[in-house]
Amino acid sequence: MPSNTRRFLLTLLLGLILIPTAPLFAQSTGVRINTIVIDPGHGGKDAGCVSRDGKTLEKNVVLDVALKLGKRIEEAYPDVKVIYTRSTDKFIPLDQRAAIANKNNADLFISIHVNSVKNNASARGTETWVMGMHKSASNFEVCKLENSVIVLEEDYSSNYQGFDPNNPESYIIFSLLQNAHLEQSLDLADKMQTQFRAGAIKKDRGIKQGGLLVLWKCTMPAVLTEIGFMSNAEDLKVMRSAAQRDKMAGSIFEAIKKYKQAYERDLDVVTSPTTIKPQGEQNEQGKYRIQIFASTKQLSPNDPAFKGLKDCEAITANSMFKYTFGRYASETEARKDLPYVRQYFPEAFVTQISK
Ligand SMILES: [Zn+2]
Repeated sequence: MPSNTRRFLLTLLLGLILIPTAPLFAQSTGVRINTIVIDPGHGGKDAGCVSRDGKTLEKNVVLDVALKLGKRIEEAYPDVKVIYTRSTDKFIPLDQRAAIANKNNADLFISIHVNSVKNNASARGTETWVMGMHKSASNFEVCKLENSVIVLEEDYSSNYQGFDPNNPESYIIFSLLQNAHLEQSLDLADKMQTQFRAGAIKKDRGIKQGGLLVLWKCTMPAVLTEIGFMSNAEDLKVMRSAAQRDKMAGSIFEAIKKYKQAYERDLDVVTSPTTIKPQGEQNEQGKYRIQIFASTKQLSPNDPAFKGLKDCEAITANSMFKYTFGRYASETEARKDLPYVRQYFPEAFVTQISK
């Protein structure tokens, strides 16, 4: 094991012990997508892959698709913040791309690239990557290719803790890391591939997992998409057309739209209460209630003040009537119904009654 690799693994192990795992706040639905980071691969001195005639550069294709995508998002969702890791032909180190997303508390990170293979001009199509451990030699080749750009960065050895993009041992880190956002990343990747199948380049090469440095430190759902092959004549023709590039941006946009709808859906739907006890039923355990308001007047159960909310009860306290909803054995149980009650009474809160 070369000392570089040893140093890398040691740093990794220390990191696993010392760095707390990323918060799992985006674990389920009910997450609002406020900020989207779009990451056009390569840039500046790093051209990415280049067409055989040298006329088409990955960095230009992906920048154009990225800007077209951002424009669509901004038009459709004026309240969503779109951040580009680069919006011009500029070199940005891989670790800075993730840092931009993390610093801005992005809810999604989408890196856009173009694929290329030597000696196989027939390989074509789109594929979308999520962070993980590569499962085949060809997947490893793609990771090596995309990661190798770090050698163009100054101090890459120290910035990536000795990571060597060409050394398989360096990739052990990706089998040890827990990916808190894998499920959502896979979901977005799936939605993107579905849209691509109806888009400008229809050949679907699927979802892949690999150790891509640009995704490594992202603390939100993150994907890297390869929108076609520079080394394939048909894909190249598509990528050279501005209208087709717009269609590609459209496919990614549709996937984001579907993702956003799915994840934000639960914010609008409030679950109906599960623990309503029939009025009058005595429940010694049910000393937690949701207080909806207090009044000096005693109201009948059908009073319009209850806004149609059933099963409200009055609790007398110091010549006041506290009106409550539900009976719960625990505060946790009561909190589950709070969103339902707050639809009617935004100020409602959980209270404990003394008997
Ligand atoms: Zn690339």
